[in-house]
Amino acid sequence: MARKHENLEYKVLQIIKESGSKGILQSQLWKKINATSREGSRISLKLEKAGLVERIRELHDGKWTYKLIAKKRLLTIDSIMDIPCVFCVDQNKCGVGSQFSPTTCKKLSEWLEKISYNHQGET
Ligand code: SF4
Repeated sequence: MARKHENLEYKVLQIIKESGSKGILQSQLWKKINATSREGSRISLKLEKAGLVERIRELHDGKWTYKLIAKKRLLTIDSIMDIPCVFCVDQNKCGVGSQFSPTTCKKLSEWLEKISYNHQGET
């Protein structure tokens, strides 16, 4: 069940990103993914809290709604220099489905969280 929600959140984020700098209205987005406004609002709040999207209040057809715009997350070479994989002793044994895998690696997850946190608030 958690996986289904993560996939939906990922899909929502991709749609928001594809809408570019003009963004997308929440109501249009929920129609695209067949979500209720309650479920959709939960996802958009979660993405906003993670610093991935901006929610901008907007009057549309006489009703207040929110427009969702993806935050730009620029990575520089400096910001990825300390990725743990570069000096990892398990690098040659690492691969999807292996004992060591980027999908389950704690070191990589913690590093991704750190750079995600460092980029919060950047536009
Ligand atoms: S994903 Fe983890 S185990 Fe694999 S190379 Fe990177 S740091 Fe090492």
